[in-house]
Amino acid sequence: MNMLPAVEVSQTPEEKFREYLASRPKPQRFTNQQRDMVQYIFSKHNHFDADELIDEMKRENFQVSRPTVYRTLKKLVDAGLLRKINLGKRTVYEHDYGYAQHDHLYCDQCGSMIEFQESRLDELIRDVCQDQQFQLGGHSFIIRGTCADCNRARMTKRRLDLV
Ligand SMILES: [Zn+2]
Ligand SMILES: [Zn+2]
Repeated sequence: MNMLPAVEVSQTPEEKFREYLASRPKPQRFTNQQRDMVQYIFSKHNHFDADELIDEMKRENFQVSRPTVYRTLKKLVDAGLLRKINLGKRTVYEHDYGYAQHDHLYCDQCGSMIEFQESRLDELIRDVCQDQQFQLGGHSFIIRGTCADCNRARMTKRRLDLV
């Protein structure tokens, strides 16, 4: 996947998460499993769901329990480290911290997520917010459809059917 440029941040994801845990009304311990998860998730940028993360981490011999993964993902979203994206049938996560604001094209056929940045869209959103006197926190546009690869495959199939 094409990665967007990283955004300069003052803390590592791990430091930011530790700070979040410590500042809870009831401070929470940063466990080894959570540390593994944060390090693993922030080693690469992608869009993943909880089950994919569990499978991948297990394949790499990490000790992960399903309830911990679900609980920690929720906390990582709460701490501003991850962004949750609802795709209808699936819920995926991606880095929010240290990663540029962007939007997505979502392929219904193969499930791929294509990231893009479009300044004209950002401008439009700012105008809409201004009109409504709404303070912009962020946005997450999802454009659904069929990606170029799937479209090509479909066209090829159609051509073959006609022969
Ligand atoms: Zn596709
Ligand atoms: Zn993304």
